[in-house]
Amino acid sequence: MRGRAAVVTWSPSVTLVPTRGCFNRCDYCGFRLSPDPRDPLADALGDRQALALLGSRPQALEVLLLSGEVPPASAHRTAWFARLVALSRLALAQGRLPHTNAGPLSRTEMARLGRLNPSLGLMLEGLGPAYDALHRQAPSKRLEQRLAQLEQAGRLGVPFTTGLLLGVGESRQDQRDALELIALLHASWGHVQEVILQPFRPAGAEGLPLPAATCESLLELIAEARRILPPEVHLQLPPNLWPLEHLVAALEAGIDDLGGIDTVDVINPAYPQPTAGALAEHLAAAGWELRPRLCVHPAWIAQLPAALRARAEAMAQRLGRGG
Ligand code: SF4
Repeated sequence: MRGRAAVVTWSPSVTLVPTRGCFNRCDYCGFRLSPDPRDPLADALGDRQALALLGSRPQALEVLLLSGEVPPASAHRTAWFARLVALSRLALAQGRLPHTNAGPLSRTEMARLGRLNPSLGLMLEGLGPAYDALHRQAPSKRLEQRLAQLEQAGRLGVPFTTGLLLGVGESRQDQRDALELIALLHASWGHVQEVILQPFRPAGAEGLPLPAATCESLLELIAEARRILPPEVHLQLPPNLWPLEHLVAALEAGIDDLGGIDTVDVINPAYPQPTAGALAEHLAAAGWELRPRLCVHPAWIAQLPAALRARAEAMAQRLGRGG
């Protein structure tokens, strides 16, 4: 017996990229573009392009704003942040809910976005020498800064998504230590709604299969994460980065969420997204129900600012009715 309902959730999502320009240079990144020093926001997503993308995904309730980062002291930071605010407002005006993941934010920026976004996200990624090596040229990926962001979100009462990038050469102890830090922060603030366990997948023209030994090791880690993190913290696995034939094993180990699913994964475009229909069919054959959710999980809706709460409650009710 599983001891819990055989339900796994996902969020119908559309991704908007405010800019790919990023001052970090993470070794593994296939997403970033080098910003033009004269005009770092030359590629910034305008409202018209954003509306076209939103219109092409009418079923998406979540608008994931995934952005390259502008340094805190940059003269362009204000314009960059104004884009995040404008795109969040646009999402709301279209009857969707924004969820922004744009790197570390100042307290004022996070508070402001937290009034427009029912949830915000920032990957912790991990700790230890393997991550230090990958982030040599990524100033905003310092562990202390990421942990401070999680704490800041907790103090502000913002429902938060974080996660680990797994399989970059870290040890099992590194993985445990990272999960325990997240558990500790959640124990203080109760705001970590989900932890993404993201297998690292190499960029390239075509996706590579996940080696069997890596898959086995990640299944053990999922079970360990389920033991370390309290039960209200959802465990998420991106289904395009994981073999479909082992998906049920991942759910049995503790995964209960498949995250936001758009038609393309803009970070890992070589790994095609399965459709919700294909996933639902596969999972139903093993006795699991795939259920849609909002970007904010139900248990965190009550703590949202009043306007966002009313909107999320109404949308959650419609989802519950299958609308
Ligand atoms: S911070 Fe994100 S976008 Fe920037 S280089 Fe690193 S992974 Fe790429």
